[in-house]
Amino acid sequence: MEDGTSDLPYRVCHDDTKGRFLVATRDIKPFELVLRDETELVVPARPDAGDACCACLAQGPQEKFRCACGLTLCSEDCPQRHAHPAEECRVLSNLKPLAAGKAAKFLLPLRVLRAAENAPALWGHIRY
Ligand SMILES: [Zn+2]
Ligand SMILES: [Zn+2]
Repeated sequence: MEDGTSDLPYRVCHDDTKGRFLVATRDIKPFELVLRDETELVVPARPDAGDACCACLAQGPQEKFRCACGLTLCSEDCPQRHAHPAEECRVLSNLKPLAAGKAAKFLLPLRVLRAAENAPALWGHIRY
């Protein structure tokens, strides 16, 4: 095919009940890379629990850093610190007095709204 998709070992299908899904179009070899996807939006499962970094999602007993907004980060210099930008930190800090220590619960909606504003291509995949 001239559209550059002929090498793909799958095709995208749609079903009104199941939504979009992939169907293999040829045998796929063990360990063959068939799909690469970039993570655009991450949020720990329990952002207020403090057991995972709210930027890189690292878990475990490593050093923890409590940001001024109340989120837990693995360190002040987390390699994914950009995932928690100053704008998000400011909004969560403003929510702290109103949310009785649960401002981190607003992390997912904040990041989805930021994605809608800053990454329209991603938002096109998220919305219904
Ligand atoms: Zn981290
Ligand atoms: Zn913060």
